[in-house]
Amino acid sequence: MTNPHLLLATEDAALARTLSWVLKENGYDVVTALGGPQLLERLEQEIYDLLVVDLANADASTMDRLARVREDLRHKDVPIFVITDAGFDSSQLEAFGLGASDAIQRPYQVRELLARIKAHLRVGRELNRARAEARSRSELVSILREITASHSSAEIYQILVRRVASGLRIARCSVVLTAPGGREGTVVAAYENPNLRDLRVDLTKYPEISRALTTGETVMVSDVDADPLYQDVIMTWGSQPKGRRTKSVIALPFTLSGRRTGVFFLRTTADDPPLNRLDLGFAEQVIEAAVAALEKSYDLEHGAGSGAQLRELADTDPLTGCANRRVLDQRLREELDRARRYDQVVTVVLLDVDEFKRINDTFGHQLGDRVLKQVALLLRRELRTMDFLARYGGEEFVVVLPETGGTGARLFADRILRRIAQHNFGDAAIPVNATVSAGLATFPDDRVADDESLMKLADENLYKAKRAGRNRYRD
Ligand code: GH3
Ligand code: MG
Ligand code: MG
Repeated sequence: MTNPHLLLATEDAALARTLSWVLKENGYDVVTALGGPQLLERLEQEIYDLLVVDLANADASTMDRLARVREDLRHKDVPIFVITDAGFDSSQLEAFGLGASDAIQRPYQVRELLARIKAHLRVGRELNRARAEARSRSELVSILREITASHSSAEIYQILVRRVASGLRIARCSVVLTAPGGREGTVVAAYENPNLRDLRVDLTKYPEISRALTTGETVMVSDVDADPLYQDVIMTWGSQPKGRRTKSVIALPFTLSGRRTGVFFLRTTADDPPLNRLDLGFAEQVIEAAVAALEKSYDLEHGAGSGAQLRELADTDPLTGCANRRVLDQRLREELDRARRYDQVVTVVLLDVDEFKRINDTFGHQLGDRVLKQVALLLRRELRTMDFLARYGGEEFVVVLPETGGTGARLFADRILRRIAQHNFGDAAIPVNATVSAGLATFPDDRVADDESLMKLADENLYKAKRAGRNRYRD
């Protein structure tokens, strides 16, 4: 556990010295600000667990500054503890929208001051936990609104890093894009540096990003010093001051238009509380919403309305972004032709979400939709470039695996069934689990003459998997 990080603001240099000494002696990490302008400057630089503000000699402009602190998204939730002169009229705090703050009047006992600060931090941290859960719903709606109202992908990336960093109160949050297989990334937005545009970075220095990109899975490390992933890079950090060194990370990969193209990258330093599962759940939901908006804005930026773009719209299922059944039929015929001509194998995997009706009935149709979208995402992550994914019907998907026989297809099915069964389709507060069953069919096979009979075989095998108890495949 890191020491709580306090900002002590006062006009009185002597008080700053003695009080910060006392607080440090009691295990707090203290930064002081002498006077209003310095207060704002410090708040620009970092995020704190608590502000202790001495209001002696404070005038309306100081109150005004404090009120602005409250409006700043990054500091919206930080508790403010004020020290006032005797006879201070606390209704003034209300008037400036600081009603929720705690106050202590002079003269006070240092012991009491310490006790109240301690209580405050405890409440503050518990509140944060509750808030983090609330965020996954209400904040998300507001973020989504901001994202969908924006016009360009550059704007969306900026909103993403700003809202997530301020929501989670972390100092570093960025979006890194890459070409598949590339060793270089491009930072397209960074909260810690809002003016940064398209900075190139060497991915070998970011083992978590590299891993997220190669596995397609989220990487979360709560203590980089203890994780072998960082063994090599950590030596190159030697000269960095401890307070600025990365302590915990989340690297969340995302795909746009079916290709793995980026990582949403969250970091804390030793001064911040480490990132946890709640934070991860929140970040995942925000990125999911953003990806939908990004795909739309990319379409616009790359000429929606053109013939090709319109055709693509007609070919895709709007909910999941997968190809629809019409396109699947066509593709399947092509793949079978190819397989016949070049004497190759091809396998289809027909997947059906288990007891999906129950998921809809228990959690609502919207969550059902979300399950379908995320199943499509999870499937997409497992595909090679030549593979093909389509939504076959309501909660049914088809994956076409060219040049893949029974063994390869079984490995694929095993992997995807496991990924889906392990995935939380809800959030940290209300986890939702789902499984799928699958039927496999490989060409050539005595029972298969064309695309129709291939699908029929897959369907029969799917039925067998269902009867055998679900969450399994048959071939
Ligand atoms: P089984 O394990 O046997 O597959 O059971 P099941 O409940 O998944 O099967 P069933 O075919 O009875 O139910 C499928 C349900 O999927 C019924 C339908 O309301 C729902 N559904 C179909 N399309 C959509 C959709 O786009 N969104 C949502 N939320 N539900 C859908
Ligand atoms: Mg079905
Ligand atoms: Mg089903």
